[in-house]
Amino acid sequence: MFKVRLKKGKEKAVRQLHPWVFSGAIENIKGAPQNGDIVMVNDNSDNFLAYGFFNDKSRVAVRLLEWNLETEINEDWWRKKIAKAVKSREHLYTGDTNTYRLIFSEADFIPGLIVDQYADFLSVQILTSGIERIKPIVIEELQKLLDPKGIFDRSDASARAHEGMETSSGGVLAGLQPPDFVSVKENGIFYHVNIADGQKSGFYCDQRDNRRMVADHSSGRKVLDCFSYSGGFSLNAFRAGASEVVSVDSSGLAIETLRRNIEINDFSKIPHRLIQSDVNKQLRLFRETNETFDLIILDPPKYAPSRSALTKASRAYKDLNRLAMLLLNEGGLLATFSCSGAVDINTFKQILAWAALDAGKEVQFIEQFAQPADHPVRSSFPEGEYLKGLLCRVN
Ligand code: SAH
Repeated sequence: MFKVRLKKGKEKAVRQLHPWVFSGAIENIKGAPQNGDIVMVNDNSDNFLAYGFFNDKSRVAVRLLEWNLETEINEDWWRKKIAKAVKSREHLYTGDTNTYRLIFSEADFIPGLIVDQYADFLSVQILTSGIERIKPIVIEELQKLLDPKGIFDRSDASARAHEGMETSSGGVLAGLQPPDFVSVKENGIFYHVNIADGQKSGFYCDQRDNRRMVADHSSGRKVLDCFSYSGGFSLNAFRAGASEVVSVDSSGLAIETLRRNIEINDFSKIPHRLIQSDVNKQLRLFRETNETFDLIILDPPKYAPSRSALTKASRAYKDLNRLAMLLLNEGGLLATFSCSGAVDINTFKQILAWAALDAGKEVQFIEQFAQPADHPVRSSFPEGEYLKGLLCRVN
């Protein structure tokens, strides 16, 4: 077995069950492991710490899997991990929802594997060389557990590039090619999901609970849904009795999908506008034309991909939120999100405090949002906590 010896003092995080060993923590390596090989990680005095996947192309040189010396990481070990993750979601299944994240990488003790369910289809992302090697086991186990109509590869190219992996060829891994649009249900609302071309893995199921919670404040209100994608927040607002919904997204495909989703849910008669535009530009335009709203939702893409981007990202979040605050009627509500792991909830509150000061407003935080139960946060891996949001009353 290949052995990775850590520098003095670098064993602490591993002992605390953190699943990453950075390349800078390594003193030397015995043998010449290939990317994806399983290595033994030892402290500086050669005491066993854990087993993990090796990858010298990644900043994270070893992704840890197992802390028990006696345990062999074999096919059975993988099957058990996969089954455990899938089964841990069973209590979430309701007749109203059939789209979930079934496996969430490190958070489910399977670094580099993400599996999302879209009704009868599964979309899989393989983001580490180690998982690439056990792909046949993953597919077989998912078929055994869930009997899907098809399993589709949606591995994110940039995440794979960070690991020094080739872009995956994508396509069908098992069963049938999914239709252009798979119909899924979330909170009793129907969505057409384009598994092959949609963003991320086709649908942002991490906002499921938050869409419902925000919709609880939509009745009788004029709602502006910024970064709408296929309409998660817009459609929940329609159903909750919003008087009008305006949705903005820069992507033509997102707006087209939202148009279709409004039709299939029979919301077409409720006043709405779908605007394909840059949100910052559109918010300024609303200001110029004196258009105001009662509830504004901001669900932007990740502004801070890493801690080094925090300063720039904070400024972007502040500007965006300041603009939105200026468009709210007296006592209006702002539901604002950040999916940047580098921005924690306290930093986010601080950013909103700056935005409020700049806008000349007083803000009250009245609810807090987080990621749902199918996106667990592992206590030894706080980096896995990424989605947060606040409902603000803007005075
Ligand atoms: N709220 C959505 C998810 C938003 S994902 C939901 O509930 O499903 C982020 C979205 O922002 C994407 O659809 C992307 O097309 C859009 N986007 C990214 N940058 C943008 C910009 N500058 N202006 C408008 N939309 C943008």
